[in-house]
Amino acid sequence: MSALKRFFVDKIAEEVLLSGEEFRHAKNVLRLGAGDEVTLLDGSGKEYAAIVARAEKGALLLHVTGERAADREPKADVFLLIGALKGDKTELVVQKATELGVNRIGVFSSRYCSAYMNENKLERLRRVAREAAKQCLRSRVPEVGFFDTLDGALAAAEGYENKLFACEFLEKSEGDIADMGASYCLVVGSEGGFTEEEFSSAKARGFTGVSLGKRILRAETAAIALLSVVMKEAGELG
Ligand code: SAH
Repeated sequence: MSALKRFFVDKIAEEVLLSGEEFRHAKNVLRLGAGDEVTLLDGSGKEYAAIVARAEKGALLLHVTGERAADREPKADVFLLIGALKGDKTELVVQKATELGVNRIGVFSSRYCSAYMNENKLERLRRVAREAAKQCLRSRVPEVGFFDTLDGALAAAEGYENKLFACEFLEKSEGDIADMGASYCLVVGSEGGFTEEEFSSAKARGFTGVSLGKRILRAETAAIALLSVVMKEAGELG
């Protein structure tokens, strides 16, 4: 296991300047300085070994010393669509979904959704995804976006091989979550749940209704549970 601190940068070159938030974390929290080794990530799936050459005003200058393949990214391409949740619950889902290996997250608003989203909140969710990716040693950060309608979110699922819609009022799943190929789009509602019409429009777009059992789960539990099952079936767990 690598104990080296990990940082995401926009672009890799022989010399890289670590600035902004990543710099502040490196300098003020981790107290890194000349001679310290770190791992750099550019989101491409590769990892780079680097060494701190010197501290400058507002930045650390790093020398990249080598490249290594990272092997912690899932093969399955999983897109999670989650209704906007109250308080910090959406952040919780983004963090857990990142750890479980999603490739992309879409937060949506829907009929019974009472939480709102704005640029600041979205920015915070992206930061949560980046921190979670670093912490669990991923080399990619899931993209996080927002859809102001459920229909817009469902349309973004076009092209995914398997589309699953967690529906709290279904007694039984409409299909098996087993051995389903390489790309998945999963939809989980907000605290308010879905309307019959919303479920019908998901079906019209090729989604299969999935039940997560006889109990009504909280949205964040439902998202984590469904993701775990899908990752297991996709061969990503053990
Ligand atoms: N307000 C709703 C519950 C919403 S639960 C009610 O009172 O019925 C939030 C979301 O979690 C749901 O929209 C659904 O996507 C998912 N969910 C929770 N329990 C579920 C279950 N048993 N089966 C499938 N999905 C479930």
